[in-house]
Amino acid sequence: MDGSKTTAAAPVLILLGPPGAGKGTQARMLEEQFGFVQLSTGDLLRAAVAAGTDAGKQAKAVMEAGDLVSDEIVIAILRDRLADADCAKGVILDGFPRTEAQAEALDELLAANGQKIDAAVSLEVDDAAMVSRISGRFTCGGCGEGYHDDFKPPKATGVCDKCGSTEFKRRADDNAETVAARLEAYHVSTAPLIKYYARKGALIGINAMGEIKDIAGKLSAIVKTATA
Ligand code: AMP
Repeated sequence: MDGSKTTAAAPVLILLGPPGAGKGTQARMLEEQFGFVQLSTGDLLRAAVAAGTDAGKQAKAVMEAGDLVSDEIVIAILRDRLADADCAKGVILDGFPRTEAQAEALDELLAANGQKIDAAVSLEVDDAAMVSRISGRFTCGGCGEGYHDDFKPPKATGVCDKCGSTEFKRRADDNAETVAARLEAYHVSTAPLIKYYARKGALIGINAMGEIKDIAGKLSAIVKTATA
């Protein structure tokens, strides 16, 4: 995106979009294709809740209600994870930033590291379709591969295509009531970031209502151009 870029700073890509838009699925595919690290603040927070850390204890009820965890907690978690050595390969941010304060904090963190955002891709979807997308999804308990009852079932029923595990998980917050709160939080706090990144000249919007592989193709082309 930035023709004046002269250093080989690690690429930074952001996937924006409401819950169910496919950010996690697409981030994992980009991770495999380009060797970048998928950074999902939702995954980091779920791990903190499971580990019973102070941040996890504070975040648990907020996440169960479908509200946003405080900027302070999320920024601290993201800052720590970004400092890990593997992030030097490049990162795909999935679910962060979700507020303007987080976006500004990210700009500062990256600037301090000589990095900048290569592209912020907005996955454009119809809200009405998101509830059914979310309520049918589940992941492999072994490797984390994502599935969906209707759109992407495992090839052999009950067996993960990737790792062969027979254990699957559904998220506690993937129920109709919480999804409505999560969609509202998206529209109130996160959708304004589309304009934020448009002003910076980093925004690319794509129609994300199609087949997973078609959207992956569009994203792959964007990443190649943005990081060339
Ligand atoms: P996700 O896995 O991205 O759908 O996130 C699950 C939940 O974690 C959200 O509904 C929020 O409660 C919380 N969460 C994840 N990322 C953030 C963030 N960047 N800011 C605030 N809350 C977040």
